[in-house]
Amino acid sequence: MWSNHIKYHWHMRTHQLVLHWIEDQLSGGQVAVGGRLPAERSLAEQLGVSRTSVREAIRILEAMGVVRAGVGSGPDAGTVVISDPTAALGSALRLHVATQHLPVADIVETRVLLESWAAARAKPGAPELDLAATLLDDMDSDHGVDDFLALDVRFHLAVADAAGNAVVSAMMGSLREAIQGYAEKLTANLPDWDATAARLRTEHREILAAIMNDDGGRAAKLVAAHIEGYYKEAGLGREHH
Ligand SMILES: [Zn+2]
Repeated sequence: MWSNHIKYHWHMRTHQLVLHWIEDQLSGGQVAVGGRLPAERSLAEQLGVSRTSVREAIRILEAMGVVRAGVGSGPDAGTVVISDPTAALGSALRLHVATQHLPVADIVETRVLLESWAAARAKPGAPELDLAATLLDDMDSDHGVDDFLALDVRFHLAVADAAGNAVVSAMMGSLREAIQGYAEKLTANLPDWDATAARLRTEHREILAAIMNDDGGRAAKLVAAHIEGYYKEAGLGREHH
């Protein structure tokens, strides 16, 4: 049965292959959370990939929190499965983000959904807004595009955190790399980066000001327009429905 999976998923990268293998083993009961994966060589043979690929896959799955890589030798050595990947929303999101299989339009819609909700509920006294203000000051000084966009994402995460919903914060955190990744890619489509950066700075200030004035409705509208505006400016708005 597993060989069919391999054929079906022939185009997958090795970490996806290993992840699906783990999911298969968990659902079939051959491996439980807390159990160990076969040795690198054995897993490589079973999956028909190189040991180097397996090692790299384990590294990614470790970063996702699915496994803990083994150290040393003896009965306690070996890579341990520490969470069921199918049960972890965060892991699933991070997987898709890692493989860049999330359509940009869907990320934009999800950002609008989460961030306009968060902006509407962020309270003026929330300590995360102090961080948000500091980040905006930092963005006023000269930065390369990538540094600017990294600060931009941190500002949005701080505003989301200010709403005080741990699940929304976790979801935004999971999307962090996807948000920064597509923003960086889209800069190639922008006619004038300096003009865009100036506009983004102004819009951030307006969003923060609306929250500080306890005008959640305005903050929500501004943040939605801010997110969608960047996407449209990069020429991708038309396919958005
Ligand atoms: Zn922004």
